[in-house]
Amino acid sequence: MRYIKKKVQEPIILKKFKEELSKSETIPNDTYASLRNDHTGAFTMLQEILAKEQGYICAYCLGELKKDEISDRIRMKVEHFKPKSIFNGQMNTSSQVNKLCDKKELRREDLRIDYHNLFAVCEGRSGDADSQTHCDTPPNGKDDKELCFIPNPSEGGVRNFNLKIRYTRRFNIKSDDKDIDQELKEVLNLNEQNLVRRRIHVWNAIARKIAKDTGMENWEQQGKSIIPVIQKNLKKYKSLKKNGKYYEFRNCIIYLLEWKIRVLNK
Ligand SMILES: [Zn+2]
Repeated sequence: MRYIKKKVQEPIILKKFKEELSKSETIPNDTYASLRNDHTGAFTMLQEILAKEQGYICAYCLGELKKDEISDRIRMKVEHFKPKSIFNGQMNTSSQVNKLCDKKELRREDLRIDYHNLFAVCEGRSGDADSQTHCDTPPNGKDDKELCFIPNPSEGGVRNFNLKIRYTRRFNIKSDDKDIDQELKEVLNLNEQNLVRRRIHVWNAIARKIAKDTGMENWEQQGKSIIPVIQKNLKKYKSLKKNGKYYEFRNCIIYLLEWKIRVLNK
């Protein structure tokens, strides 16, 4: 997970959709379903906007959101950070409220088509059909559960969005904050084994690149002289590529490269 910078104003396409909705004689029960089915293609355009502002990586696992070559659509889901089944402006049943952090309020805000509650996430499976799901996809991922400790990734600015995340030598994600750690693992399932394998795969590619740049197979055992090469590669991972995309799993790579530099500087 990482901080996601969103615009202050909602996208025009969403604003227009809401204006049309308010003009209609009956407001539909499910405003999100209406958005999905809107004949003007508002939903597809919104998907593109959400993916683009995230550099085309999943808001949770940071895996790449790729285009489907046949349909030319981005393979992604629109995630409601606060679940749309509960934050719907209506009175909730006590069983729904029991899934929430604040169990006192029965009526919740309506965040079903609220731009700041919407994020682009992956389709939730990194392996074959028998593998566990992750991110927003049930049964192992978040679905309609509320995250109580991880804040909305677009709130508070990049400096305040500090999940105290670390990556282990085995490429597992963890947080120094035990409540956040539990949500990363148990609600989002971000250490699902295929996800971990994909992080390793990306790391191996960057390690090979540094070996090539330094001319040393065993660059990890070298001294301070290789720091400039690591820094050059680090800069690349921190930036958007020319096509407007971030490298997938960038935060894991950045964390590990910065850790290497710290170790070499000791
Ligand atoms: Zn994901």
